[in-house]
Amino acid sequence: MKVLFTGIQPTGLLHIGNYFGAIRNWVELQGRYRSFVSIVDLHAMTIAYEPSRMPEQVFQLALGLLACGIDADKTILFIQSEVPGHADLTWVFNTLTPLGELERMTQFKDKASRHRKNINVGLLDYPVLQAADILLYKGQVVPVGEDQIQHVEFTREVARYFNTRYGETFPECEALLTATPRVMGLDGESKMSKSQGNFIGLLEPREEIWAKLAPAKTDPARIRRTDPGTPEICNIYSYHRLVTAEPELSETIAQGCRTAGIGCLDCKRRLLNNLMGVLDPIQERHRSLEGRRNDVRDLLDRNAEVCRSDAARTILEVKERTGLTPTWKI
Ligand code: SF4
Repeated sequence: MKVLFTGIQPTGLLHIGNYFGAIRNWVELQGRYRSFVSIVDLHAMTIAYEPSRMPEQVFQLALGLLACGIDADKTILFIQSEVPGHADLTWVFNTLTPLGELERMTQFKDKASRHRKNINVGLLDYPVLQAADILLYKGQVVPVGEDQIQHVEFTREVARYFNTRYGETFPECEALLTATPRVMGLDGESKMSKSQGNFIGLLEPREEIWAKLAPAKTDPARIRRTDPGTPEICNIYSYHRLVTAEPELSETIAQGCRTAGIGCLDCKRRLLNNLMGVLDPIQERHRSLEGRRNDVRDLLDRNAEVCRSDAARTILEVKERTGLTPTWKI
């Protein structure tokens, strides 16, 4: 089985953008690959965070991922900082990576502009740590959206740098570009994110979600109930596409919007019902997992052990290749 690696930062509660934009895809892929899903807390340190809240955020993310369908029998779900090899390999890769390449990364420029008061070395080095995350397990497949392709390309380059300098060691991983959509926030202007406050939480109760959906923007040309609309430019319709099945999607929603056969509030109520069809089972599983915190803790411990063992093999190989094995001791 090929090795698949992916990671997610513990930056707070999960929202539907995380689920439809990434996690749902990971759930579908598990079983077809040897799948690693890492809670990347080392990455989360590159921006301002509250240390006292980090442990619970990490644990809540583990609960959330399992509730979404990450299957403990098919996926190795683990916490990045519990495997020292990630930082070890990052250092080796740092010594091979030209500075200019990191400075050119789009995500660095974007984050540096958003966190002007905290442009730390970790922010710049983020892609190197990401390359180490993947290559520590000899990852071959990385499921990503369009905006992450540059980082997978960079990981391939790092593997080439190492292989050229020290001999064939790491595979050149492939980006598994999936049809995972970029889920826009409720404001319809930027990607859904916690920091923008434009999100629908996966665990939010129905009434709270309705309080966010009811005033949300729709097609601006649809001022009166009798005005025909254009679903393709309506953010609410983009959510329907995630959760509403055919023929309801085309016939009732899209067609109803174009012909003014359905009002925006009714359209949003249908969206709420269909969305809750996805969220109710997730919320139910989450409640059940909350009652089994010890089991989840044990799972994370066991998986950390598996990862440390895999990582130790890679680090040993790297040390041999790079001349860091103390052969004079033998
Ligand atoms: Fe958007 Fe639905 Fe209103 Fe059409 S009917 S503008 S798709 S909310």
